[in-house]
Amino acid sequence: LATQSHPNHNTLVKLSDNVTFGARELVIIGGPCAVENRRQMELVAQQLQHAPVQALRGGVFKPRTSPYSFQGLGVEGLEILSEVRSRYNLPVITEVMTIDQIESLAPHGDMLQVGSRNMQNFDLLKALGQIDKPVLLKRGLAATLEEFVMAAEYILSHGNSQVVLCERGIRSFDNFTRNVLDLGAVVALKQLTHLPVIVDPSHAVGKRELVAPLAKAAVACGADGLMIECHPEPEKSVSDARQALSLDDMVDLVESLRPVAVAV
Ligand code: PEP
Ligand code: MN
Repeated sequence: LATQSHPNHNTLVKLSDNVTFGARELVIIGGPCAVENRRQMELVAQQLQHAPVQALRGGVFKPRTSPYSFQGLGVEGLEILSEVRSRYNLPVITEVMTIDQIESLAPHGDMLQVGSRNMQNFDLLKALGQIDKPVLLKRGLAATLEEFVMAAEYILSHGNSQVVLCERGIRSFDNFTRNVLDLGAVVALKQLTHLPVIVDPSHAVGKRELVAPLAKAAVACGADGLMIECHPEPEKSVSDARQALSLDDMVDLVESLRPVAVAV
């Protein structure tokens, strides 16, 4: 179901009335790694609505390497997301880690994200196949493209056709960057499948000064959108501080992507 059967058929995934993945316009998703408090999300939405970004991100359930690290605000974070979403009229994307979180997240998020660590959580994928809500599927930390496409297939084959793929870097031997952004995969996935493909350069490189050039390269490679982490006070981010852009830098990046998007 995921593979391209008609060369010029591309699936459109609608996020809100005026935001669609896979249509001609680039969809930019911005926001912090984690929802931390109301003021943080207000500041993000206030500034990014004019950038403009098309959607906000923010995790309330966080898959952290250490069980002692901040695990997300949970239900309290959902209330914050919900308020910001309606006040600024911006669609919201947030991560779902377990099947039982689907029910509480679905009313507040316009799209549910499956993180890299859960790309092959087949029961979760099957459950997401049964809801009527777009799913952002991130590539596993060391997943082959076949494994990635087959993970999408689990969602599609259970009845949900609204799947967007996200390349977010894969593990390699060099830890200078957090991961290695696989732009070849973006091009290949666009050819192999009819699904929209977006890129998350933040988790790929893990260093804020490397994010903007890779974001531009992703757009040049035909990505349908970008997901970028940013924060009102990047150094104070409770998670992924090193890769977070300031809101001013995020606005500048969005501006600088325009000519690249037009040229592609
Ligand atoms: C995220 O986007 O918040 C995240 C945890 O990313 P990944 O699953 O790609 O590591
Ligand atoms: Mn993060």
